[in-house]
Amino acid sequence: MPELPEVETVKNVLNNIAKGKTISYVEVIRPQTIRSDVNEFQSVLKGATIQEFSRYGKYIIYHLDRDYVLVSHLRMEGKYFHRDEKIKPNHNDLILFHFTDGSYLAFNDTRRFGTMELVKKEGYLEREPLNEIGPDPFMMKDSSRLYEAFKNKGVAIKPCLLDQSVMSGLGNIYVDEVLFACKIHPETPAKLITKKQFDEIWYWSKDIMGRAIQKGGTTVISYHPTEGIDGEFVNELKVYGQNGDKCVNCGTPLVKKFVGGRGTTFCPHCQRNIARPYVLGVTGPIGSGKSMVCKYLETKGFIYLNSDEIVHHLYELKSVQEGLKRFVPHLKIKDGKVDRVSLRDEIIANPRVKRYIERYIHELVIEELERQIKKHGPKEKVVCEVPLLFQSGYNLYCDETLMLEVDEKSQIEHLSERKEDVEKALRLNARFKLDNNQKATYTIINNGSVASLHQKLDKIICKKCR
Ligand SMILES: [Zn+2]
Repeated sequence: MPELPEVETVKNVLNNIAKGKTISYVEVIRPQTIRSDVNEFQSVLKGATIQEFSRYGKYIIYHLDRDYVLVSHLRMEGKYFHRDEKIKPNHNDLILFHFTDGSYLAFNDTRRFGTMELVKKEGYLEREPLNEIGPDPFMMKDSSRLYEAFKNKGVAIKPCLLDQSVMSGLGNIYVDEVLFACKIHPETPAKLITKKQFDEIWYWSKDIMGRAIQKGGTTVISYHPTEGIDGEFVNELKVYGQNGDKCVNCGTPLVKKFVGGRGTTFCPHCQRNIARPYVLGVTGPIGSGKSMVCKYLETKGFIYLNSDEIVHHLYELKSVQEGLKRFVPHLKIKDGKVDRVSLRDEIIANPRVKRYIERYIHELVIEELERQIKKHGPKEKVVCEVPLLFQSGYNLYCDETLMLEVDEKSQIEHLSERKEDVEKALRLNARFKLDNNQKATYTIINNGSVASLHQKLDKIICKKCR
């Protein structure tokens, strides 16, 4: 969707190609695009001269030598094309402005969400739809409007900044870029954002969108400001659309999660959520030394949470047993608990059942981990041992993640020490693989001694001294 810089670019292009032109008549191919009366639209514009185009928020305003202004929104895919009358309209052209000079301006919209309407010129900013739009960062003289609107809001800052009634212009792309520049986690409750941070949000909104305007906006997937012009700012984006890439500041893989229903990319290291304790997620295949790592970090002041223990506890609950029976009707219960060995055999035999059970259990485990984490303050540190950290999606709740790798020899050694059924355990873990865009913050290869493992961990903790 075009954002403020793209709309500004389109407005500039329109001033270059159509400012000063006189409309001989308007052809309305799709009447639904016109929000005001269609007959009035055509009669008012017939013979009107376009004095100038301006932008308000993400709206484009046609200023005419009439008592009306034309207010237009591109929505998802709206575009303009300027053509000679000899060239036929395209089948996605919805409105054609024919000029007296033998050319025409086509409003083209494949998705058909774009709108146009005539609004009385007198006080048009106080009339619908512009009265619902706040000033953009370039029109504001400081950040107090933001601070006053959000200082008591408990919701995440990202959806607040997308609220066009407070400050207009920031859409999904630029909110992610601005929050990255300010080192603010998109889920930070708005009321925890300081006045100084709102100053920074305002400053970076102007800086980033100002540079994007100079570069002609950002071309993402299907959006082009106008024929023949591509936005070059896409090359300067630092987080948007770069899930799994390394953060330009610290090298941590960027993560993407949904915040307020919108895909959001950020650096979990640079953009800490200050409302939560620091959370390190530890994962790796069976026998890679996850518990060893967590127990060591516990001696260094971390609070240790173990997803396996949570699962054990869940298996004792009647409600969970009933839930599992939906997938495994002959589920074995031993001493009031789910018999893990028989469940494991069932899972190995049936990959489809495995998927269902995992999804069901993952949700419950995440809920419980989060419940326990919320008991601790933002100054504390938590280490979570989660064998299926990335598969369950819990990596997105962690500030950082640690992946343990191990060769088969050390793995078998570790397992034999624990008197595990080595062969079965290895088979269950055979598919322990991550997708390409799932990268842990740290990777430790744990084939050496306990002392060398501790040394590697000390380096990580030291780097993260908080
Ligand atoms: Zn970073």
